[in-house]
Amino acid sequence: MLASKLYAPTLRETPADADVVSQQYMLRAGMIRKMAGGIYSYLPLAWKSIRKIKAIIHEEMASIDAQEIMMPIIQPAEIWQESGRWNVYGAEMIRFNDRHDRSYCLGPTHEEMITTLVKDEVKSYRQLPLTLYQIQNKYRDERRPRYGLMRSREFIMKDAYSFDLDEAGLDKSYWDMYHAYERVFSRCGLYFKPVEADSGAIGGSNSHEFMALADSGEADVIHCDSCDYAANIEIGKPSVMKQAEEPLLELTEVATPDAKTIDAVAEQLSLPLDKTMKAVVLSVDGVVVLAMVRGDHEVNEIAVQHAVDGGVEPEMASEEELQAAGLTGGFISPVGLKQTETFKIVVDESVMEMFNACGGANKKDAHFININPKRDFNLEDIIVAPIRLITTDDVCPNCGGHLGIAKGIEVGQVFKLGTKYSESLNGTFLDQNGRPNPYIMGSYGIGVSRTLAAAIEQFHDENGIIWPRAIAPFEVVVVPINAKDEALMEASTKIYEELKAAGVDVLLDDRKERAGVKFKDADLIGYPLRITVSKNTLESGAVELKTRKTGEAVEVAIADVQKAVADTLNTL
Ligand code: ATP
Ligand code: MG
Repeated sequence: MLASKLYAPTLRETPADADVVSQQYMLRAGMIRKMAGGIYSYLPLAWKSIRKIKAIIHEEMASIDAQEIMMPIIQPAEIWQESGRWNVYGAEMIRFNDRHDRSYCLGPTHEEMITTLVKDEVKSYRQLPLTLYQIQNKYRDERRPRYGLMRSREFIMKDAYSFDLDEAGLDKSYWDMYHAYERVFSRCGLYFKPVEADSGAIGGSNSHEFMALADSGEADVIHCDSCDYAANIEIGKPSVMKQAEEPLLELTEVATPDAKTIDAVAEQLSLPLDKTMKAVVLSVDGVVVLAMVRGDHEVNEIAVQHAVDGGVEPEMASEEELQAAGLTGGFISPVGLKQTETFKIVVDESVMEMFNACGGANKKDAHFININPKRDFNLEDIIVAPIRLITTDDVCPNCGGHLGIAKGIEVGQVFKLGTKYSESLNGTFLDQNGRPNPYIMGSYGIGVSRTLAAAIEQFHDENGIIWPRAIAPFEVVVVPINAKDEALMEASTKIYEELKAAGVDVLLDDRKERAGVKFKDADLIGYPLRITVSKNTLESGAVELKTRKTGEAVEVAIADVQKAVADTLNTL
Protein backbone atom coordinates (compact mmCIF):
# COMPACT_ATOMS: atom_id res chain seq x y z
CA MET A 1 0.00 0.00 0.00
CA LEU A 2 1.16 3.50 -0.82
CA ALA A 3 0.62 6.18 1.80
CA SER A 4 -0.35 8.63 -0.95
CA LYS A 5 -3.39 6.47 -1.65
CA LEU A 6 -4.22 5.57 1.97
CA TYR A 7 -7.37 7.12 3.38
CA ALA A 8 -6.09 8.08 6.83
CA PRO A 9 -6.98 11.71 7.47
CA THR A 10 -4.72 12.55 10.41
CA LEU A 11 -5.42 15.46 12.74
CA ARG A 12 -2.81 17.69 14.35
CA GLU A 13 -5.02 18.65 17.29
CA THR A 14 -6.58 16.36 19.85
CA PRO A 15 -10.39 16.54 19.51
CA ALA A 16 -11.85 18.24 22.56
CA ASP A 17 -14.45 15.62 23.40
CA ALA A 18 -12.07 12.64 23.29
CA ASP A 19 -11.38 11.65 26.88
CA VAL A 20 -9.19 8.57 26.70
CA VAL A 21 -5.95 7.95 24.86
CA SER A 22 -7.29 5.28 22.52
CA GLN A 23 -10.07 7.56 21.35
CA GLN A 24 -7.74 10.54 20.96
CA TYR A 25 -5.13 8.65 19.00
CA MET A 26 -7.61 6.77 16.83
CA LEU A 27 -9.27 10.05 15.88
CA ARG A 28 -5.94 11.79 15.34
CA ALA A 29 -4.48 8.90 13.36
CA GLY A 30 -7.48 8.96 11.02
CA MET A 31 -8.62 5.52 12.15
CA ILE A 32 -12.15 6.26 13.31
CA ARG A 33 -14.74 9.00 12.94
CA LYS A 34 -17.71 9.69 15.19
CA MET A 35 -21.13 9.71 13.58
CA ALA A 36 -23.18 10.20 16.77
CA GLY A 37 -22.64 9.54 20.47
CA GLY A 38 -21.16 6.04 20.78
CA ILE A 39 -21.49 5.38 17.04
CA TYR A 40 -18.34 5.28 14.92
CA SER A 41 -17.08 4.59 11.41
CA TYR A 42 -13.91 2.55 11.04
CA LEU A 43 -11.53 3.93 8.42
CA PRO A 44 -9.03 1.69 6.59
CA LEU A 45 -6.31 1.58 9.27
CA ALA A 46 -8.70 0.65 12.07
CA TRP A 47 -10.52 -1.80 9.89
CA LYS A 48 -7.28 -3.52 8.95
CA SER A 49 -6.47 -4.00 12.63
CA ILE A 50 -10.00 -5.22 13.33
CA ARG A 51 -9.61 -7.76 10.53
CA LYS A 52 -6.40 -9.01 12.10
CA ILE A 53 -8.14 -9.47 15.46
CA LYS A 54 -10.98 -11.26 13.71
CA ALA A 55 -8.52 -13.54 11.87
CA ILE A 56 -6.95 -14.55 15.18
CA ILE A 57 -10.40 -15.23 16.62
CA HIS A 58 -11.40 -17.33 13.59
CA GLU A 59 -8.25 -19.44 13.93
CA GLU A 60 -8.73 -20.03 17.62
CA MET A 61 -12.42 -20.83 17.17
CA ALA A 62 -11.53 -23.34 14.46
CA SER A 63 -9.03 -24.93 16.88
CA ILE A 64 -11.88 -25.81 19.24
CA ASP A 65 -14.31 -26.77 16.46
CA ALA A 66 -16.55 -23.75 16.95
CA GLN A 67 -18.36 -23.01 13.70
CA GLU A 68 -19.03 -19.57 12.31
CA ILE A 69 -22.57 -18.52 11.45
CA MET A 70 -24.29 -15.18 10.93
CA MET A 71 -27.59 -14.42 12.61
CA PRO A 72 -29.86 -11.44 12.02
CA ILE A 73 -29.19 -8.24 13.94
CA ILE A 74 -32.93 -7.55 14.05
CA GLN A 75 -34.64 -9.74 16.60
CA PRO A 76 -38.39 -10.17 17.11
CA ALA A 77 -39.76 -9.25 20.54
CA GLU A 78 -41.49 -12.63 20.91
CA ILE A 79 -38.33 -14.61 21.63
CA TRP A 80 -37.34 -12.11 24.31
CA GLN A 81 -40.82 -12.23 25.78
CA GLU A 82 -40.56 -16.02 25.92
CA SER A 83 -37.25 -15.89 27.79
CA GLY A 84 -38.62 -13.20 30.10
CA ARG A 85 -35.93 -10.66 29.18
CA TRP A 86 -38.04 -8.25 27.07
CA ASN A 87 -39.19 -6.46 30.20
CA VAL A 88 -36.05 -6.75 32.31
CA TYR A 89 -33.51 -5.63 29.71
CA GLY A 90 -34.53 -2.02 30.19
CA ALA A 91 -33.51 1.12 28.36
CA GLU A 92 -30.26 -0.37 27.06
CA MET A 93 -32.19 -2.33 24.45
CA ILE A 94 -32.86 -0.44 21.22
CA ARG A 95 -36.44 -1.28 20.25
CA PHE A 96 -38.65 -0.38 17.31
CA ASN A 97 -41.90 -1.33 15.65
CA ASP A 98 -42.36 -2.22 12.01
CA ARG A 99 -45.17 -0.92 9.76
CA HIS A 100 -47.48 -3.64 11.09
CA ASP A 101 -46.74 -2.52 14.63
CA ARG A 102 -44.77 -5.63 15.49
CA SER A 103 -41.96 -5.08 17.99
CA TYR A 104 -38.29 -5.80 17.44
CA CYS A 105 -34.94 -4.95 18.93
CA LEU A 106 -31.43 -4.53 17.59
CA GLY A 107 -29.54 -7.46 19.09
CA PRO A 108 -27.60 -6.59 22.25
CA THR A 109 -26.72 -10.32 22.54
CA HIS A 110 -28.09 -13.49 20.94
CA GLU A 111 -28.95 -16.18 23.53
CA GLU A 112 -32.64 -16.10 22.64
CA MET A 113 -32.00 -16.13 18.92
CA ILE A 114 -29.45 -18.94 18.88
CA THR A 115 -31.65 -21.13 21.09
CA THR A 116 -34.58 -20.49 18.76
CA LEU A 117 -32.36 -21.17 15.76
CA VAL A 118 -31.13 -24.59 16.85
CA LYS A 119 -34.07 -25.92 18.82
CA ASP A 120 -36.05 -27.21 15.85
CA GLU A 121 -33.06 -28.95 14.34
CA VAL A 122 -30.85 -30.18 17.14
CA LYS A 123 -33.12 -32.87 18.52
CA SER A 124 -30.86 -35.77 19.39
CA TYR A 125 -27.97 -36.30 21.78
CA ARG A 126 -26.04 -37.47 18.71
CA GLN A 127 -25.96 -33.87 17.43
CA LEU A 128 -24.29 -32.59 20.59
CA PRO A 129 -21.97 -31.01 21.60
CA LEU A 130 -22.25 -28.01 19.29
CA THR A 131 -20.61 -24.61 19.47
CA LEU A 132 -21.56 -21.81 17.08
CA TYR A 133 -20.29 -18.25 16.88
CA GLN A 134 -20.52 -15.07 14.89
CA ILE A 135 -18.73 -11.73 14.67
CA GLN A 136 -21.25 -8.96 14.31
CA ASN A 137 -22.32 -5.48 15.36
CA LYS A 138 -24.19 -5.36 18.63
CA TYR A 139 -26.41 -2.57 19.89
CA ARG A 140 -26.76 -1.29 23.44
CA ASP A 141 -28.09 2.13 24.30
CA GLU A 142 -25.53 2.52 27.08
CA ARG A 143 -26.41 4.91 29.89
CA ARG A 144 -23.00 6.52 29.44
CA PRO A 145 -21.52 5.85 26.02
CA ARG A 146 -17.97 7.11 26.30
CA TYR A 147 -14.32 6.47 25.78
CA GLY A 148 -14.73 5.95 22.04
CA LEU A 149 -14.72 2.30 21.07
CA MET A 150 -14.40 1.23 24.72
CA ARG A 151 -18.05 1.82 25.52
CA SER A 152 -20.00 2.51 22.38
CA ARG A 153 -23.63 1.99 21.48
CA GLU A 154 -22.85 0.12 18.27
CA PHE A 155 -19.87 -2.19 18.69
CA ILE A 156 -18.36 -5.33 17.23
CA MET A 157 -18.73 -8.47 19.29
CA LYS A 158 -17.74 -12.02 18.73
CA ASP A 159 -20.42 -14.07 20.42
CA ALA A 160 -20.35 -17.84 20.79
CA TYR A 161 -22.85 -20.30 22.25
CA SER A 162 -22.31 -23.91 23.25
CA PHE A 163 -24.86 -26.71 23.56
CA ASP A 164 -24.11 -29.80 25.57
CA LEU A 165 -25.75 -32.98 26.85
CA ASP A 166 -24.77 -32.55 30.46
CA GLU A 167 -22.77 -30.52 32.97
CA ALA A 168 -19.55 -32.38 32.21
CA GLY A 169 -19.94 -31.49 28.55
CA LEU A 170 -20.58 -27.85 29.41
CA ASP A 171 -17.52 -27.86 31.62
CA LYS A 172 -15.39 -29.01 28.69
CA SER A 173 -16.93 -26.51 26.27
CA TYR A 174 -16.46 -23.74 28.83
CA TRP A 175 -12.80 -24.45 29.50
CA ASP A 176 -12.04 -25.01 25.81
CA MET A 177 -13.43 -21.55 25.16
CA TYR A 178 -11.65 -20.08 28.18
CA HIS A 179 -8.30 -21.35 26.91
CA ALA A 180 -9.09 -20.23 23.36
CA TYR A 181 -9.75 -16.75 24.76
CA GLU A 182 -6.43 -16.80 26.58
CA ARG A 183 -4.76 -17.60 23.26
CA VAL A 184 -6.72 -14.89 21.42
CA PHE A 185 -5.73 -12.14 23.84
CA SER A 186 -2.12 -13.35 24.10
CA ARG A 187 -1.82 -13.42 20.33
CA CYS A 188 -3.29 -9.91 20.14
CA GLY A 189 -0.41 -8.87 22.38
CA LEU A 190 -2.57 -7.75 25.30
CA TYR A 191 -1.53 -7.77 28.92
CA PHE A 192 -4.58 -9.39 30.52
CA LYS A 193 -5.89 -11.36 33.47
CA PRO A 194 -8.84 -13.77 33.56
CA VAL A 195 -10.87 -12.98 36.68
CA GLU A 196 -13.84 -14.54 38.42
CA ALA A 197 -16.95 -12.64 37.44
CA ASP A 198 -20.56 -12.17 38.38
CA SER A 199 -22.72 -14.79 36.78
CA GLY A 200 -25.86 -12.70 37.07
CA ALA A 201 -29.05 -14.24 38.34
CA ILE A 202 -27.78 -17.78 37.79
CA GLY A 203 -25.38 -17.96 40.72
CA GLY A 204 -22.29 -20.00 41.39
CA SER A 205 -18.78 -19.42 40.17
CA ASN A 206 -19.75 -19.83 36.56
CA SER A 207 -18.20 -16.94 34.79
CA HIS A 208 -14.86 -15.36 34.03
CA GLU A 209 -14.05 -12.01 32.55
CA PHE A 210 -10.87 -11.31 30.62
CA MET A 211 -9.53 -8.01 31.83
CA ALA A 212 -6.96 -5.98 29.91
CA LEU A 213 -5.23 -4.15 32.72
CA ALA A 214 -5.09 -0.39 32.14
CA ASP A 215 -5.66 2.72 34.23
CA SER A 216 -8.53 3.80 32.02
CA GLY A 217 -10.40 0.55 32.71
CA GLU A 218 -13.87 0.91 34.15
CA ALA A 219 -13.75 -2.33 36.15
CA ASP A 220 -11.94 -2.91 39.42
CA VAL A 221 -10.04 -6.16 39.71
CA ILE A 222 -9.08 -7.49 43.11
CA HIS A 223 -6.15 -9.90 43.05
CA CYS A 224 -4.03 -11.77 45.56
CA ASP A 225 -0.30 -11.20 45.86
CA SER A 226 0.27 -14.78 47.05
CA CYS A 227 -2.05 -17.03 45.02
CA ASP A 228 -3.71 -16.68 41.61
CA TYR A 229 -7.02 -15.46 43.00
CA ALA A 230 -8.36 -12.60 40.87
CA ALA A 231 -11.94 -11.41 40.70
CA ASN A 232 -14.06 -8.55 39.55
CA ILE A 233 -14.53 -6.50 42.70
CA GLU A 234 -18.30 -7.02 42.25
CA ILE A 235 -17.99 -10.61 43.37
CA GLY A 236 -15.07 -10.34 45.78
CA LYS A 237 -16.37 -11.64 49.11
CA PRO A 238 -15.59 -9.25 51.95
CA SER A 239 -14.88 -10.56 55.42
CA VAL A 240 -17.12 -9.78 58.38
CA MET A 241 -15.49 -7.01 60.37
CA LYS A 242 -16.08 -7.39 64.08
CA GLN A 243 -15.93 -4.43 66.45
CA ALA A 244 -14.93 -4.48 70.08
CA GLU A 245 -17.92 -5.29 72.24
CA GLU A 246 -19.32 -2.41 74.33
CA PRO A 247 -22.12 -2.13 76.88
CA LEU A 248 -25.29 -1.26 74.95
CA LEU A 249 -26.21 2.37 75.54
CA GLU A 250 -29.67 3.85 75.17
CA LEU A 251 -30.83 4.71 71.66
CA THR A 252 -30.80 8.52 71.52
CA GLU A 253 -31.92 10.99 68.89
CA VAL A 254 -29.62 13.93 68.20
CA ALA A 255 -30.03 16.95 65.96
CA THR A 256 -27.88 16.92 62.82
CA PRO A 257 -29.03 19.95 60.84
CA ASP A 258 -28.24 19.69 57.14
CA ALA A 259 -25.89 16.74 57.69
CA LYS A 260 -26.99 14.77 54.67
CA THR A 261 -23.79 12.87 54.02
CA ILE A 262 -22.13 10.46 56.36
CA ASP A 263 -18.97 12.57 56.37
CA ALA A 264 -20.95 15.62 57.48
CA VAL A 265 -22.65 13.60 60.25
CA ALA A 266 -19.34 12.19 61.48
CA GLU A 267 -17.87 15.67 61.55
CA GLN A 268 -20.83 17.26 63.37
CA LEU A 269 -20.85 14.55 66.00
CA SER A 270 -17.06 14.10 66.12
CA LEU A 271 -17.34 10.40 65.38
CA PRO A 272 -14.94 8.17 63.45
CA LEU A 273 -16.55 6.87 60.22
CA ASP A 274 -16.48 3.28 61.45
CA LYS A 275 -18.88 4.23 64.25
CA THR A 276 -21.43 5.42 61.67
CA MET A 277 -23.56 3.58 59.17
CA LYS A 278 -24.65 4.86 55.81
CA ALA A 279 -27.70 4.21 53.70
CA VAL A 280 -27.80 3.85 49.94
CA VAL A 281 -31.23 3.57 48.39
CA LEU A 282 -31.43 1.58 45.18
CA SER A 283 -34.14 0.57 42.78
CA VAL A 284 -34.11 -3.07 41.68
CA ASP A 285 -36.84 -4.46 39.42
CA GLY A 286 -39.22 -1.74 40.69
CA VAL A 287 -38.47 -2.57 44.33
CA VAL A 288 -36.92 0.11 46.52
CA VAL A 289 -33.98 -1.37 48.40
CA LEU A 290 -32.35 0.26 51.40
CA ALA A 291 -28.74 -0.93 51.56
CA MET A 292 -26.83 -0.28 54.81
CA VAL A 293 -23.07 -0.43 55.18
CA ARG A 294 -20.63 0.97 57.69
CA GLY A 295 -19.72 4.62 57.13
CA ASP A 296 -16.21 3.72 56.02
CA HIS A 297 -17.41 1.02 53.57
CA GLU A 298 -18.92 1.18 50.11
CA VAL A 299 -22.02 -0.61 48.84
CA ASN A 300 -21.56 -3.34 46.24
CA GLU A 301 -24.64 -2.93 44.07
CA ILE A 302 -24.28 -6.34 42.46
CA ALA A 303 -24.23 -7.97 45.90
CA VAL A 304 -27.40 -6.04 46.75
CA GLN A 305 -28.99 -7.28 43.54
CA HIS A 306 -28.22 -10.86 44.52
CA ALA A 307 -29.42 -10.35 48.10
CA VAL A 308 -32.88 -9.40 46.82
CA ASP A 309 -32.81 -11.90 43.89
CA GLY A 310 -33.05 -9.01 41.46
CA GLY A 311 -33.12 -9.72 37.74
CA VAL A 312 -31.48 -6.46 36.68
CA GLU A 313 -28.63 -4.30 37.88
CA PRO A 314 -29.71 -1.80 40.55
CA GLU A 315 -30.04 1.88 39.81
CA MET A 316 -30.06 4.75 42.27
CA ALA A 317 -33.62 5.24 43.53
CA SER A 318 -35.27 8.46 42.39
CA GLU A 319 -36.59 11.14 44.76
CA GLU A 320 -40.13 9.94 43.96
CA GLU A 321 -39.25 6.36 44.84
CA LEU A 322 -37.76 7.53 48.14
CA GLN A 323 -40.89 9.43 48.96
CA ALA A 324 -43.16 6.55 47.98
CA ALA A 325 -41.21 4.33 50.40
CA GLY A 326 -41.53 6.98 53.12
CA LEU A 327 -37.78 7.59 53.33
CA THR A 328 -36.11 10.88 54.26
CA GLY A 329 -32.98 11.07 52.07
CA GLY A 330 -29.81 11.71 54.08
CA PHE A 331 -31.33 10.62 57.40
CA ILE A 332 -32.17 6.94 56.86
CA SER A 333 -31.50 3.83 58.95
CA PRO A 334 -33.40 0.56 59.40
CA VAL A 335 -34.45 1.54 62.96
CA GLY A 336 -38.24 1.31 63.08
CA LEU A 337 -38.60 0.44 59.38
CA LYS A 338 -40.50 -2.55 58.05
CA GLN A 339 -40.20 -4.34 54.72
CA THR A 340 -43.13 -4.44 52.31
CA GLU A 341 -43.75 -5.95 48.89
CA THR A 342 -42.04 -2.97 47.27
CA PHE A 343 -39.53 -2.03 49.95
CA LYS A 344 -36.65 -4.18 51.18
CA ILE A 345 -33.87 -3.61 53.70
CA VAL A 346 -30.47 -5.20 53.17
CA VAL A 347 -27.86 -4.83 55.90
CA ASP A 348 -24.19 -5.66 55.50
CA GLU A 349 -22.82 -8.34 57.82
CA SER A 350 -20.28 -5.92 59.30
CA VAL A 351 -23.05 -3.48 60.26
CA MET A 352 -24.58 -6.20 62.42
CA GLU A 353 -21.30 -6.34 64.37
CA MET A 354 -21.40 -2.65 65.35
CA PHE A 355 -22.00 -1.31 68.87
CA ASN A 356 -23.46 2.07 69.81
CA ALA A 357 -23.31 3.26 66.22
CA CYS A 358 -24.75 6.33 64.56
CA GLY A 359 -27.34 6.23 61.77
CA GLY A 360 -30.31 8.17 60.41
CA ALA A 361 -33.37 8.77 62.61
CA ASN A 362 -35.71 8.57 59.60
CA LYS A 363 -36.68 12.20 59.94
CA LYS A 364 -35.17 15.39 58.60
CA ASP A 365 -32.10 16.80 60.37
CA ALA A 366 -31.89 14.02 62.95
CA HIS A 367 -29.74 10.95 63.60
CA PHE A 368 -29.67 8.27 66.25
CA ILE A 369 -26.62 7.53 68.31
CA ASN A 370 -26.16 4.26 70.17
CA ILE A 371 -27.80 2.12 67.52
CA ASN A 372 -27.16 -1.52 68.32
CA PRO A 373 -28.33 -3.36 65.19
CA LYS A 374 -29.02 -6.70 66.86
CA ARG A 375 -31.19 -4.88 69.41
CA ASP A 376 -32.64 -2.00 67.38
CA PHE A 377 -33.38 -3.36 63.89
CA ASN A 378 -36.54 -5.36 63.24
CA LEU A 379 -34.59 -8.54 62.65
CA GLU A 380 -37.40 -10.31 60.79
CA ASP A 381 -37.60 -7.29 58.50
CA ILE A 382 -34.05 -7.16 57.27
CA ILE A 383 -31.90 -9.25 54.96
CA VAL A 384 -28.34 -9.62 56.26
CA ALA A 385 -25.82 -10.20 53.47
CA PRO A 386 -22.22 -9.36 52.51
CA ILE A 387 -23.02 -6.24 50.50
CA ARG A 388 -19.99 -4.08 51.04
CA LEU A 389 -17.26 -3.83 48.43
CA ILE A 390 -14.16 -5.82 49.23
CA THR A 391 -11.06 -3.63 49.72
CA THR A 392 -7.33 -4.13 50.03
CA ASP A 393 -7.87 -4.12 53.81
CA ASP A 394 -9.56 -7.50 53.40
CA VAL A 395 -7.60 -10.70 53.00
CA CYS A 396 -7.66 -13.08 50.04
CA PRO A 397 -10.82 -15.24 50.33
CA ASN A 398 -8.75 -18.09 48.91
CA CYS A 399 -5.50 -18.14 50.91
CA GLY A 400 -5.66 -15.28 53.41
CA GLY A 401 -2.92 -13.42 51.50
CA HIS A 402 -2.58 -9.70 50.85
CA LEU A 403 -4.90 -8.22 48.21
CA GLY A 404 -4.14 -5.64 45.53
CA ILE A 405 -6.48 -3.75 43.25
CA ALA A 406 -6.11 -2.84 39.58
CA LYS A 407 -8.22 -1.26 36.84
CA GLY A 408 -9.32 -3.50 34.01
CA ILE A 409 -11.01 -3.20 30.64
CA GLU A 410 -13.36 -6.15 30.17
CA VAL A 411 -12.45 -7.45 26.72
CA GLY A 412 -14.23 -10.78 27.01
CA GLN A 413 -16.47 -12.90 29.19
CA VAL A 414 -17.29 -16.58 29.34
CA PHE A 415 -20.40 -17.80 31.00
CA LYS A 416 -22.04 -21.08 32.00
CA LEU A 417 -25.71 -20.54 31.29
CA GLY A 418 -26.98 -24.00 32.16
CA THR A 419 -30.62 -24.38 31.14
CA LYS A 420 -31.85 -20.81 31.60
CA TYR A 421 -32.60 -20.28 27.90
CA SER A 422 -33.19 -23.88 26.81
CA GLU A 423 -35.89 -24.22 29.47
CA SER A 424 -37.65 -20.94 28.82
CA LEU A 425 -37.49 -21.35 25.03
CA ASN A 426 -38.12 -25.12 24.97
CA GLY A 427 -34.79 -26.11 23.50
CA THR A 428 -34.71 -29.85 24.16
CA PHE A 429 -33.05 -32.94 22.74
CA LEU A 430 -33.78 -36.63 23.24
CA ASP A 431 -31.18 -38.39 25.36
CA GLN A 432 -29.89 -41.97 24.99
CA ASN A 433 -33.05 -43.22 26.68
CA GLY A 434 -35.35 -41.24 24.41
CA ARG A 435 -36.21 -38.77 27.15
CA PRO A 436 -36.38 -35.01 26.39
CA ASN A 437 -33.78 -32.85 28.17
CA PRO A 438 -32.97 -29.16 27.89
CA TYR A 439 -29.61 -28.28 26.31
CA ILE A 440 -26.93 -27.30 28.79
CA MET A 441 -25.66 -24.02 27.37
CA GLY A 442 -22.74 -21.63 27.61
CA SER A 443 -22.29 -18.18 26.16
CA TYR A 444 -19.04 -16.43 25.37
CA GLY A 445 -18.31 -12.90 24.18
CA ILE A 446 -15.32 -10.92 22.98
CA GLY A 447 -15.52 -7.17 22.50
CA VAL A 448 -13.64 -6.98 19.21
CA SER A 449 -13.75 -3.20 18.85
CA ARG A 450 -13.07 -2.76 22.57
CA THR A 451 -10.03 -5.05 22.23
CA LEU A 452 -8.61 -2.68 19.62
CA ALA A 453 -9.07 0.27 21.97
CA ALA A 454 -7.67 -1.70 24.93
CA ALA A 455 -4.47 -2.44 23.00
CA ILE A 456 -3.95 1.30 22.50
CA GLU A 457 -4.73 2.01 26.16
CA GLN A 458 -1.96 -0.40 27.07
CA PHE A 459 0.58 0.47 24.41
CA HIS A 460 1.19 4.11 23.63
CA ASP A 461 3.46 7.01 24.52
CA GLU A 462 3.22 10.78 24.18
CA ASN A 463 3.79 10.54 20.42
CA GLY A 464 1.13 8.01 19.58
CA ILE A 465 0.21 4.35 19.39
CA ILE A 466 2.70 1.50 19.82
CA TRP A 467 0.91 -1.42 18.18
CA PRO A 468 1.54 -5.00 19.18
CA ARG A 469 2.78 -6.45 15.93
CA ALA A 470 -0.08 -8.93 15.48
CA ILE A 471 -2.78 -6.29 15.26
CA ALA A 472 -0.85 -3.34 13.81
CA PRO A 473 -2.55 -1.96 10.70
CA PHE A 474 0.83 -2.28 8.95
CA GLU A 475 3.90 -3.97 10.40
CA VAL A 476 6.45 -1.78 8.66
CA VAL A 477 6.54 1.67 7.09
CA VAL A 478 9.25 2.57 4.59
CA VAL A 479 9.98 6.29 4.67
CA PRO A 480 12.05 7.92 1.93
CA ILE A 481 13.21 11.18 3.49
CA ASN A 482 12.52 13.04 0.28
CA ALA A 483 9.98 11.59 -2.12
CA LYS A 484 11.06 14.02 -4.84
CA ASP A 485 14.52 12.45 -4.92
CA GLU A 486 14.36 9.74 -7.54
CA ALA A 487 17.28 7.70 -6.20
CA LEU A 488 15.70 7.60 -2.75
CA MET A 489 12.30 6.67 -4.16
CA GLU A 490 13.81 3.95 -6.28
CA ALA A 491 15.73 2.40 -3.38
CA SER A 492 12.69 2.72 -1.11
CA THR A 493 10.33 1.18 -3.63
CA LYS A 494 12.68 -1.74 -4.11
CA ILE A 495 12.85 -2.40 -0.35
CA TYR A 496 9.07 -2.04 -0.14
CA GLU A 497 8.44 -4.46 -3.01
CA GLU A 498 10.82 -7.04 -1.61
CA LEU A 499 9.29 -6.91 1.85
CA LYS A 500 5.83 -7.18 0.35
CA ALA A 501 6.88 -10.20 -1.69
CA ALA A 502 8.22 -11.77 1.51
CA GLY A 503 4.77 -11.45 3.07
CA VAL A 504 5.48 -8.45 5.31
CA ASP A 505 2.52 -6.09 5.76
CA VAL A 506 4.29 -2.93 4.62
CA LEU A 507 3.39 0.65 3.71
CA LEU A 508 5.51 2.94 1.55
CA ASP A 509 5.23 6.56 2.61
CA ASP A 510 5.60 8.02 -0.88
CA ARG A 511 3.90 11.30 0.06
CA LYS A 512 5.71 14.45 -0.94
CA GLU A 513 5.63 15.66 2.66
CA ARG A 514 8.51 16.88 4.80
CA ALA A 515 10.39 14.12 6.61
CA GLY A 516 9.27 15.55 9.97
CA VAL A 517 5.61 15.18 9.04
CA LYS A 518 6.12 11.59 7.94
CA PHE A 519 7.98 10.71 11.13
CA LYS A 520 5.25 12.28 13.26
CA ASP A 521 2.56 10.33 11.42
CA ALA A 522 4.57 7.10 11.68
CA ASP A 523 4.85 7.58 15.44
CA LEU A 524 1.21 8.59 15.81
CA ILE A 525 -0.14 5.65 13.79
CA GLY A 526 2.37 3.45 15.54
CA TYR A 527 3.80 1.06 12.95
CA PRO A 528 6.04 -1.37 14.85
CA LEU A 529 9.01 -0.80 12.49
CA ARG A 530 10.13 2.18 10.45
CA ILE A 531 12.71 1.95 7.71
CA THR A 532 14.17 5.33 6.83
CA VAL A 533 15.91 5.77 3.52
CA SER A 534 18.08 8.88 3.32
CA LYS A 535 20.90 10.16 1.15
CA ASN A 536 23.34 9.60 3.99
CA THR A 537 22.48 6.01 4.59
CA LEU A 538 22.24 5.22 0.89
CA GLU A 539 25.78 6.41 0.33
CA SER A 540 26.96 3.67 2.66
CA GLY A 541 24.47 1.19 1.13
CA ALA A 542 22.37 1.10 4.29
CA VAL A 543 19.04 2.23 5.75
CA GLU A 544 17.90 3.00 9.28
CA LEU A 545 15.67 0.45 11.01
CA LYS A 546 13.81 1.92 13.97
CA THR A 547 11.66 0.00 16.44
CA ARG A 548 8.66 2.03 17.60
CA LYS A 549 8.42 0.24 20.95
CA THR A 550 11.99 0.77 22.11
CA GLY A 551 12.92 3.77 20.01
CA GLU A 552 16.07 1.85 19.09
CA ALA A 553 17.52 2.67 15.66
CA VAL A 554 20.15 0.63 13.85
CA GLU A 555 21.79 0.90 10.46
CA VAL A 556 21.17 -2.12 8.28
CA ALA A 557 22.80 -2.92 4.94
CA ILE A 558 20.19 -2.90 2.20
CA ALA A 559 20.96 -6.51 1.36
CA ASP A 560 20.14 -7.50 4.95
CA VAL A 561 16.91 -5.54 5.36
CA GLN A 562 14.58 -8.47 4.85
CA LYS A 563 16.27 -10.61 7.45
CA ALA A 564 16.62 -7.74 9.93
CA VAL A 565 12.92 -6.91 9.55
CA ALA A 566 11.88 -10.53 10.03
CA ASP A 567 14.14 -10.94 13.04
CA THR A 568 13.01 -7.73 14.72
CA LEU A 569 9.32 -8.39 14.03
CA ASN A 570 9.71 -11.76 15.68
CA THR A 571 10.79 -10.10 18.90
CA LEU A 572 7.67 -7.91 19.01
P1 ATP B 1 -19.77 -3.99 30.44
O1 ATP B 1 -19.86 -4.56 31.83
O2 ATP B 1 -18.43 -3.41 30.13
O3 ATP B 1 -20.91 -3.10 30.09
P2 ATP B 1 -20.96 -6.41 29.61
O4 ATP B 1 -20.51 -7.32 30.68
O5 ATP B 1 -22.32 -5.85 29.65
O6 ATP B 1 -19.90 -5.22 29.46
P3 ATP B 1 -21.08 -8.64 27.80
O7 ATP B 1 -22.53 -8.81 27.72
O8 ATP B 1 -20.28 -9.56 28.64
O9 ATP B 1 -20.74 -7.11 28.20
O10 ATP B 1 -20.51 -8.57 26.29
C1 ATP B 1 -19.37 -9.27 25.82
C2 ATP B 1 -18.23 -8.34 25.52
O11 ATP B 1 -18.64 -7.27 24.65
C3 ATP B 1 -17.70 -7.62 26.75
O12 ATP B 1 -16.78 -8.44 27.43
C4 ATP B 1 -17.05 -6.39 26.15
O13 ATP B 1 -15.73 -6.66 25.74
C5 ATP B 1 -17.89 -6.11 24.92
N1 ATP B 1 -18.80 -4.96 25.15
C6 ATP B 1 -19.90 -4.93 25.93
N2 ATP B 1 -20.50 -3.73 25.91
C7 ATP B 1 -19.73 -2.96 25.07
C8 ATP B 1 -19.81 -1.61 24.62
N3 ATP B 1 -20.80 -0.81 25.01
N4 ATP B 1 -18.87 -1.15 23.77
C9 ATP B 1 -17.86 -1.96 23.36
N5 ATP B 1 -17.74 -3.24 23.75
C10 ATP B 1 -18.65 -3.74 24.59
MG1 MG C 1 -19.55 -8.94 30.53
